Amino acid sequence: MITTASRVSLFTESVIREMTRLALEHNAVNLAQGFPDFPAPAELLAAASRALAEGHNQYAITWGSPRLREAIAEKVRWFNGIEADPERNVTVTCGATEAMIATLLATVNPGDEVIVFEPFYENYGPDAILCGARPVYVPMPLDGPLDLERLAAAFSDRTRAIIVNTPNNPTGRVLSREELQGIAALCVRHGAWAITDEIYEHIRYEGEHVGLAALPGMRERTVVVSGASKTFSITGWRVGWILAPPGATAAIRKVHDFLTVGAPAPLQDAVATALDELPRGYYEQMSDAYRARRDLLCGALTRAGFRLVPPQGAYYVLADYGALADEPDPAFAVRLVKEAGVATVPASSFFRAPDPARRVVRFAFCKTEDVLAAAAERIATFAAGRR
Ligand code: PLP
Repeated sequence: MITTASRVSLFTESVIREMTRLALEHNAVNLAQGFPDFPAPAELLAAASRALAEGHNQYAITWGSPRLREAIAEKVRWFNGIEADPERNVTVTCGATEAMIATLLATVNPGDEVIVFEPFYENYGPDAILCGARPVYVPMPLDGPLDLERLAAAFSDRTRAIIVNTPNNPTGRVLSREELQGIAALCVRHGAWAITDEIYEHIRYEGEHVGLAALPGMRERTVVVSGASKTFSITGWRVGWILAPPGATAAIRKVHDFLTVGAPAPLQDAVATALDELPRGYYEQMSDAYRARRDLLCGALTRAGFRLVPPQGAYYVLADYGALADEPDPAFAVRLVKEAGVATVPASSFFRAPDPARRVVRFAFCKTEDVLAAAAERIATFAAGRR
């Protein structure tokens, strides 16, 4: 019999997609998966239609259309403070998702270790495992600074890379300059790559967005992953990018070519238009709109009896339901879908091991204020019934 025994058996299926399925089954408000339910900027949609009509319908250059790579280089110049050469430093991918796995496959060998903060974005562990590497987990506190001593202890002579996601999903943390300087020093000391996931770089309520690549000595050892999904509310377009030193770029492009050939050509053109033409105020307005959504949901959750630390960035909040129920988070998440009509993600899916004492679920607030208000009402009714 042919078996499917492979590295895939070392990780489980995505709980987030399962919660979305449950949400549909129970007609629940879906605050589980992180995709916006409002449209992308009209300019972007018009640019995509134009690109289709004008015939950008065949493969673009594997590592990205020259126009988009140029636009990305310009954007990282003004926003991230990094000089980038579109020919030697920029690769366009099918979302940040492909960017991360392509980067890891290009930089990590079987047997290497990759440091991942916990709680983590679901993909990092499986990405490392698919490369034959071993993820090594270090706690990311929700409220309070990173324990740099603990992080230092996680580095070994097998550490090839550390994945750093700020603003962070699921904690909402925005890492401070001091924390990033601490991480940078460890990368330099151990000759490790920093792979940064900056997909939420424009969604921030507190603090500054500091990229590791912009810190002294880090440019040559940092691979920056980002993309258009969150910034322009186009998670279905699958356009992301990588900024890397020339040697790493060459290796990453090789992997990327064999993984996907390239990102959708007409959508690359439309994203270039967005980067070139949307005014800089767009990014602030978008972040302000998310702040209003954050305040609406966090206020409602707090009134209903959840305990939480308001996120500093990204569009998720981890909320403790200990005052409302005393059951493990997978059971509570199912109860919330069925009894309240609101889908969340049990926080256990962001940790390597279940903790019987964990009473936390994650809400996504990338939804219109109407939808969030409807969810708030359902949660208030549910909470009233539990007291
Ligand atoms: N990285 C993080 C931290 C995310 O939260 C997500 C999506 O939720 C992604 C990457 C995926 O980005 P993309 O749509 O560009 O693949």
